[in-house]
Amino acid sequence: MSPRRARRAEPSDRRGRAAPPPRPLDAVLHGMERVEEWPDGDWKVRRVAGTAPGKVYRCPGCEQEIVGALPHVVSWPNWTGGEGERRHWHTACWRKRADRGPGRSRY
Ligand SMILES: [Zn+2]
Repeated sequence: MSPRRARRAEPSDRRGRAAPPPRPLDAVLHGMERVEEWPDGDWKVRRVAGTAPGKVYRCPGCEQEIVGALPHVVSWPNWTGGEGERRHWHTACWRKRADRGPGRSRY
């Protein structure tokens, strides 16, 4: 409302733009992806900021649903055809995957 206030806001606003925060979507699209080595092979793991609206995934680790904007991981085998085996996991469940023991489904 007052002109003094408007002037003061300008320089600080410009400083704020010098380092814009990374947008989560960009991070997902541009390489938040890495290869992890597991006893059963190499797996590609991608961190996801959240699911698309209305999408629900079932976590293979705990058989619970991954809902809403919950950050989680998508993983798939890092070998030919592995792209078709993508699974959405709770981040914690993915980390505990190796504790599930032999004989369990790896997905
Ligand atoms: Zn889970």
